[in-house]
Amino acid sequence: MNNTERLFKKLLEQLKNAAKFYYAFDLLEWDQLIKMPPGGAKGRAEIYAAVNTEGFKLLTSDKMGEILKKLKGNVENLNPEKQLLIKRINAIYQRLKVVPPDLMKAFNEAKSRACTIWTEAKKKSDFSIFQPALKDLVGFMHQFAELYGYEKNPYDGLLPSFEPGITTEDLKKIINPLLKELIPFVRSLIEQPNKPDEKILKGHFSERLQRKLSLEALKVIGYNFNKGRLDIAPHPCTAAVGPEDVRLATRFVLKDLAPALFASIHEGGHGLYEQGKDPLLRWVKLDTDYSLGLHESQSLMWENIVGRSLSFWKFFYPKLQNIFPRFRNIALKDFYRAINTVKPSLIRIDTDEVTYNLHVILRFEIEEALIKGEIKVKDLPELWNKKMKEYLGVVPKNDAEGVLQDIHWSLGCFGYFPTYMLGNLYAAQLFATAKREIPELEEEIAKGNLSVFLEWLRMKVHRFGLIYEGPELIREVTGESPTLKFWLDYIKEKYSKIYDIS
Ligand code: ZN
Repeated sequence: MNNTERLFKKLLEQLKNAAKFYYAFDLLEWDQLIKMPPGGAKGRAEIYAAVNTEGFKLLTSDKMGEILKKLKGNVENLNPEKQLLIKRINAIYQRLKVVPPDLMKAFNEAKSRACTIWTEAKKKSDFSIFQPALKDLVGFMHQFAELYGYEKNPYDGLLPSFEPGITTEDLKKIINPLLKELIPFVRSLIEQPNKPDEKILKGHFSERLQRKLSLEALKVIGYNFNKGRLDIAPHPCTAAVGPEDVRLATRFVLKDLAPALFASIHEGGHGLYEQGKDPLLRWVKLDTDYSLGLHESQSLMWENIVGRSLSFWKFFYPKLQNIFPRFRNIALKDFYRAINTVKPSLIRIDTDEVTYNLHVILRFEIEEALIKGEIKVKDLPELWNKKMKEYLGVVPKNDAEGVLQDIHWSLGCFGYFPTYMLGNLYAAQLFATAKREIPELEEEIAKGNLSVFLEWLRMKVHRFGLIYEGPELIREVTGESPTLKFWLDYIKEKYSKIYDIS
């Protein structure tokens, strides 16, 4: 073993030591969401802080700094994946080191306060309760942006925490044409008289049978239950709590068949991504600064591009009909149209794949203006409602339905929302590439042979996705930088057919 290899081995050991704490942290969070009795909340914050601090200390230790420094400029004889890992860890290390511990502590306390206040403000539907706490957090964001550094726009300082490798300017190059194309297209769908009949998805669906359906769907997409499980949570989520333990949670709505099923497939997509990582990354647990856009591309790919496709339902519909015999009287075409209904809604998480990006853009534009200091926190509700009307044609009745609906800002996550839009774009671009490389892909899906696609994703995306920057991996796999084209083509082609627009 030469010196570089020895150093690389040390780096992996150090990452493993930190990962043990981060896995434990996620297990605690999973427990809080799924199992913990209400009284358990007291004292939990201190346990979190202790576990997280240990992980953070190891990741930002001088020892880590020394290893990275010694590796610098000394990596040519390592394979490209090892080099990529070093590059990623180095970027994370530099970013984590730049924030003084006292500032981070004050920020964590402000977040924890803001979260409690947001919950109360949302319950009372009163933004003014949340306003001072949000103002505080925006103040922290200004400081972080300066510390992290940026060239043109302070928002660029924040983006890499969630999507390294992308700038505000890149986003605007996508968003401007997207708005121009999508708003009139959505309008034309809404004006169509021949709408899908969503009512066929409503009724009473027992939790037991819905669970059976979700489990069946997860099995067919290839999620490994030997290294995972499906639980119930207030909001669907995925938790990687160990190198071989990636858990999913969904949420059942008894009067509607769609939410739990598609949430399960969505989380299944996240789960497959984590389950598919290369053994080299077994003990690499990054809870920061990796591409959330890539992660989201995997969930949205399975939920929407596969899970809401006609090909998928050609083989999966009989399975659903077996579990819920009432669907034996409903034609596949009508069911397929119903699960693809487009309806501008007030709440982002209840929306369809066509209008979803409009919700995301609204938040991005508000965040960017806030961080640049162009608008004030107190102006948010009015601005929110104005943009909702402009982009979606609907206006919230109150703050709870509007500006207070998402938890992200109270968690201090500014720069997070664009990753949802990028997830959609990456998914469409990757799927178009998969179809080019596997010409019979849609026929295979229609036969229920989803492993063809999963294998492709494993090779191209899952193995090292966690250490790539999103745009970097997209370029490598598809031959092009992230672009709007594939998503827009996909949306227009699919929904023109569903809505009979020629
Ligand atoms: Zn997701």
